[in-house]
Amino acid sequence: MTGAPSAYALCRPPGHHAFADVAGGFCFINNSAVAAQVLRRNAARVAILDVDLHHGNGTQGIFYARPDVLTVSLHADPVRFYPFFWGHADERGEGPGLGYNFNLPLPRKSGDAAFLEALATAFQRIRAFAPEALVVALGLDAFEGDPFGGLSVTTPGFARIGEATAGLGLPTVIVQEGGYLCDALGDNLTAFLTGFGGKQR
Ligand SMILES: [Zn+2]
Repeated sequence: MTGAPSAYALCRPPGHHAFADVAGGFCFINNSAVAAQVLRRNAARVAILDVDLHHGNGTQGIFYARPDVLTVSLHADPVRFYPFFWGHADERGEGPGLGYNFNLPLPRKSGDAAFLEALATAFQRIRAFAPEALVVALGLDAFEGDPFGGLSVTTPGFARIGEATAGLGLPTVIVQEGGYLCDALGDNLTAFLTGFGGKQR
């Protein structure tokens, strides 16, 4: 908010499953939504990009009827995966917010190529929205070695996701979301942040 091009928030517990009035999925306060709302003081439009393995249902719910905050989520297809009842491609927003929610469910075990392809689609939508700031809901549980086993992103894959995200050229708040205990958890965070920092303009 004071001129730094980006910031990383190491939040625990995570937040993206928390609605305004419902806790869920270990989440009580939706940190990404709070960040987006604070950024709105100086930015007419804010986009939230959620790359956690799980759909950011709380974030979607909070902004579902609003056109000023675009919510985009890449995640394992909720047909057989938490949060089950949200995260489907036909959930596009409602009222004034119709068209400002974009879900990209991925087949189970999708790897780097499928994830990066979906990310490119997400970026098309984000660029069309022309946000003045970005919030990244950074889950690391899409990792191939994560105990949840939903997707198969590699450690170098997280670096590429970070690089690609920096390519949007937006002031960015990176908020830590999920990421379950495995030996590579720290490496994956380092990979994302290094990829992001290396490409940031
Ligand atoms: Zn998650």
